[in-house]
Amino acid sequence: MHIVKTISEVRSHVAQARGEGKRIGFVPTMGYLHRGHLSLVEESKKYSEYQVMSIFVNRIQFNDPKDFSSYPIDLERDFDLARGAGVDLVFVPDEGEMYTDNLTHVDVDVLTENLCGASRPGHFRGVFTVVSKLFNIVQPDVSVFGQKDIQQAVSVEKMTEDLNFPVRIVIAPTVREKDGLAMSSRNARLSPDERKRAVALSRALRRAEEMLVSGERSAGSIVAAMTDIINESKPGKIDYISIARYSDLALADAVTEKSVIALAVFYGATRLIDNMIITFEGERAQCAY
Ligand code: AMP
Repeated sequence: MHIVKTISEVRSHVAQARGEGKRIGFVPTMGYLHRGHLSLVEESKKYSEYQVMSIFVNRIQFNDPKDFSSYPIDLERDFDLARGAGVDLVFVPDEGEMYTDNLTHVDVDVLTENLCGASRPGHFRGVFTVVSKLFNIVQPDVSVFGQKDIQQAVSVEKMTEDLNFPVRIVIAPTVREKDGLAMSSRNARLSPDERKRAVALSRALRRAEEMLVSGERSAGSIVAAMTDIINESKPGKIDYISIARYSDLALADAVTEKSVIALAVFYGATRLIDNMIITFEGERAQCAY
């Protein structure tokens, strides 16, 4: 596994792999890797023969400077995990390599109006800007994103289409801890007590699933039941619990077509997110989370 810090080194390694007839898979991350990240590499291997991972804590996507300064970092551990997962090339740029006097940014309208877009101003602009830059640097054939960050994944798909990046976007399922908590680098910042309580996010989604499967379609009723579950998990502080149409992430009053239920909850200073996608087979609701 090669570990490189410069754009020119990425370009030359990727060119060599391409010269060998390999398709390039790409998994962008902010590091502090867990099984969720590694599952994206596994998925990428289904479509490509050369795996590139970036590890870059992208300051411009943090709307809260404290969240940025406390973001966990352990590069040596990340390199071991990436090597074990079969990554061929890790790109770990420093900030100067990625941004000098960047005046250009990428935004996606409509899809970013609700959910995390509403509560984290500027966040997605930072994400799409760095993903665009990374796509131009790596020039992958396929890039895999996690359902865990569903608004990001859906918007990156649209950005890729709108800006004609020749990249296939794949969305991979959320990997969870045994008790249901979605894996996240930020979980490392939870106190033992907060960690126990944080299972409420996935429990709330499970409750929503039960309601949907038994025929409930009112967004208000489902959100109310989920709110009760989070509130029982004090000190969880709800940022949002929303139900949106999948096609454009517009908020919905009823769950009658492909939809997403997403939530964000603070435990102390740590903000956790989770979601599930609802599809219909006839009248029957099916939930993926
Ligand atoms: P991050 O390092 O948190 O920016 O995440 C990098 C990529 O990993 C994004 O596409 C995330 O959606 C994805 N990811 C994060 N957590 C998980 C998880 N628990 N399961 C699957 N993918 C994840």
